[in-house]
Amino acid sequence: MVRAIVGANWGDEGKGKITDMLAEKSDIVVRFQGGSNAGHTIINDYGKFALHLLPSGVFYNHTTSIIGNGVALNIPYLINEIKGLEERGVPTPKILVSDRAQILMPYHVDFDAFEEERLGGKAFGSTKSGIAPFYSDKYAKIGFQVSELFDEASLKEKVNRVVEYKNILLEHLYHKPVMNPDDIYNTLLSYREMIEPYVTDVSLFINNALKEGKTVLLEGQLGTLKDPDHGIYPMVTSSSTLAAYGAIGAGIAPYEIKDIITVVKAYSSAVGAGAFVSEIFGEEADELRKRGGDGGEFGATTGRPRRMGWFDAVATRYGCRMQGATEVVLTVLDVLGYLDEIPMCVGYEIDGEVTKDFPVTYKLEKAKPVLKYFKGWKSDIRGIKNYDELPVECRNYIEAIEEEIGVPITMVSNGPKRHDIIIRESKLNK
Ligand code: GDP
Repeated sequence: MVRAIVGANWGDEGKGKITDMLAEKSDIVVRFQGGSNAGHTIINDYGKFALHLLPSGVFYNHTTSIIGNGVALNIPYLINEIKGLEERGVPTPKILVSDRAQILMPYHVDFDAFEEERLGGKAFGSTKSGIAPFYSDKYAKIGFQVSELFDEASLKEKVNRVVEYKNILLEHLYHKPVMNPDDIYNTLLSYREMIEPYVTDVSLFINNALKEGKTVLLEGQLGTLKDPDHGIYPMVTSSSTLAAYGAIGAGIAPYEIKDIITVVKAYSSAVGAGAFVSEIFGEEADELRKRGGDGGEFGATTGRPRRMGWFDAVATRYGCRMQGATEVVLTVLDVLGYLDEIPMCVGYEIDGEVTKDFPVTYKLEKAKPVLKYFKGWKSDIRGIKNYDELPVECRNYIEAIEEEIGVPITMVSNGPKRHDIIIRESKLNK
């Protein structure tokens, strides 16, 4: 059985915690897209961890953690992340890396920074992890697949070809020092040594595991609105953040994905540039940012303050639809306990017309939020285990969200810890 866990919003929905919970019940956890550009925060018996590249299953002895072919594989970063766990007492996890994954090179990180520098004020707000240059190269067929490390003659020839091309950009577009092909070749050979023990035909491994009835969890990064096709292009990431891509990025049949658990945040937050209709500013935003998440809404990878906003029902309904959400987990609800009234964006006004359908970017830029106000519950809901024990105002807020998005909310997260979770029977049919 294959399940996917994905985000409906701009990322940072609190997927880490939910993934950790689901990983415990899975035999295999697979990262299928993205790279080390986003972080999951997981708090467990070993401590608090920010995982960037490793799947969340790494804390369990019974799970195999897989880096699928869709991932931007930064090899030294992965090895360091594994070491970091071992240093903190986590038993050495079982890790497999797809022989079809592509390698994120040091020059991808450089090109990311150079391009942001070149764009100046028009920059995308990249995390400068090399993700956009990496995926550009992959699809331009000048990337390096892990399998290519094992074919030395072709590798050498390809390195020369790629470096020749890159050097023209370095010299004439970015005015930076050029690269030496021998250095790049040697880097790749050193990567081969590091990664060799993990390399496997991951697709075959997962497909065999499925035949044996094993449970597989596909772990998404970021959220729908950062998807290159269906998100707020061009302020998006460079690999698909949708559950559908899980089939490609892990090498399984699409019909194997039976459950798409979509994580929705009880308010909005975003990093980087781009239209954000329900955004709030000033003291109102500072207060929510300070109280948000676990110790404030600041990027897990970059430490940047996140942009804040009220719950956006238009974006979230769309976010759930594009994921194909079968159920929703509503997170960080506890954070809103300080508010007298809670605004929710239930429509967009664009050129004088109100819509509930999420539009393309140039229309989104013009959208003004149509707000509806809900009475706050003015109390701390952490520690509550039963849905019926939540204050009635809080249940009203949850049920209003459920009605707006049209997907059953089966879990409500009311605190950062693993056990801060309320399982709920939804009135909506699956
Ligand atoms: P991800 O990128 O979607 O995995 O999001 P993160 O893992 O970065 O989650 C954001 C933050 O929210 C982390 O600091 C979590 O510990 C925290 N968090 C997750 N769920 C809850 C919750 O229900 N309540 C509170 N207060 N914090 C939460």
